Amino acid sequence: MKFNRLEDVNLDGKAVLVRLDLNVPLSDGKILDDTRIQASLPTLKYLQSKNAKIAIMSHLGRPKGKANPKYSLAPVGERLAEILNCEVIMVNDYHKEPADQVLKQLGKNQIMMLENLRFHAAETANDSEFAQVLIKGVDFYVNDAFGAAHRAHASVVAAPNYVPKDHCFPGFLMTKEIDALDKLKNSPKVPFTVVIGGAKVSDKIGVILSLLEKCNHLLIGGAMAYTLLKFKGFRVGASKVEEDKMDLVEAIFRNAESRKVSIELPVDHVCAEAFDANASATVVDDINIPDNMMGLDIGPKTIAKYQEIIKASSTVLWNGPMGVFEWSAFAKGTTAVAEEISRCPGYTVVGGGESVAAAQKAGVASKIKHVSTGGGASLEFLEGTQLPGIKALEIV
Ligand code: AMP
Repeated sequence: MKFNRLEDVNLDGKAVLVRLDLNVPLSDGKILDDTRIQASLPTLKYLQSKNAKIAIMSHLGRPKGKANPKYSLAPVGERLAEILNCEVIMVNDYHKEPADQVLKQLGKNQIMMLENLRFHAAETANDSEFAQVLIKGVDFYVNDAFGAAHRAHASVVAAPNYVPKDHCFPGFLMTKEIDALDKLKNSPKVPFTVVIGGAKVSDKIGVILSLLEKCNHLLIGGAMAYTLLKFKGFRVGASKVEEDKMDLVEAIFRNAESRKVSIELPVDHVCAEAFDANASATVVDDINIPDNMMGLDIGPKTIAKYQEIIKASSTVLWNGPMGVFEWSAFAKGTTAVAEEISRCPGYTVVGGGESVAAAQKAGVASKIKHVSTGGGASLEFLEGTQLPGIKALEIV
């Protein structure tokens, strides 16, 4: 993959439109986690230092094509103003307001921010007219929204089509994500261990089958483990099982066998009688689960076994919690895996989504070599799919 480099152009006084992923969790207008804002700062600070006129655009939540104050980017703009020590000028209705004029007249300590792109159905429709509204008056286009790179939306795909190819760039976060995930795809140091968990086998089948071609060990946890255990003929009690996905499970075992990949499944469990935050946790010291119980976390023997394998790995990729980590009684497996990965001296990557939240909750995210900001995007990238947002930036 080849891209133009932002560092190779003169940005002084130039209008730069930057697509960011500022889709932060909000509650009553308060930002609950600003990881995505922080991840956008290297590109923004660089553009500021080069005296560019900066226009920011992003989506937030799913307002379904209609303006909705609940999903306004205004609180994000306020936070950015504080961090970057500048004024953030919000442009709410860029169909009517002459955003290009605002951009042209931006002063030294001002940044322009377009209101939530998804207030317009044209964004998700990848509409070319909308894209031309976005890029009006723009000299350069930068996409730093890795988390949205798997979406063929107007700000991601159509917009760069209307900017000369040599004026389109990936931002620093985008480049960092691509480099980190490429390393796993193309040249992982062995032993390479993939730790996969979460709710469903069917959500992750693509990435599992693709990684089976590269990895040496696949450690499975979360609800998906019970579908695999059931396939193997073990008793899983009332655990969550995808009964209709046994064909996918069969493909996993078949591919693993032909590639000589070891698949590790839980050998003991932390169970409860009901799926309830206040349910009391019982350790079941057996691979089989009694009929009246459901597995909600991996057990202590499984933790020890997974830790040994992680410790001896040169590359580790982790995606998906080992249990219902949101409830403290069932979070031990996820925390233990996160901690072991953070201690591993090899190349370690957390592949986005819930596992990033789990690593943060365990307080170890900063010790993991790469923490991906893109959940769906990182999985699709690792699956080998060409992401439309990356393709739009590629040069030959
Ligand atoms: P995913 O988005 O696929 O990574 O799934 C994450 C979700 O899976 C989390 O909300 C967990 O609570 C849930 N989960 C993990 N393990 C289990 C389990 N054993 N039973 C039910 N849900 C689980």
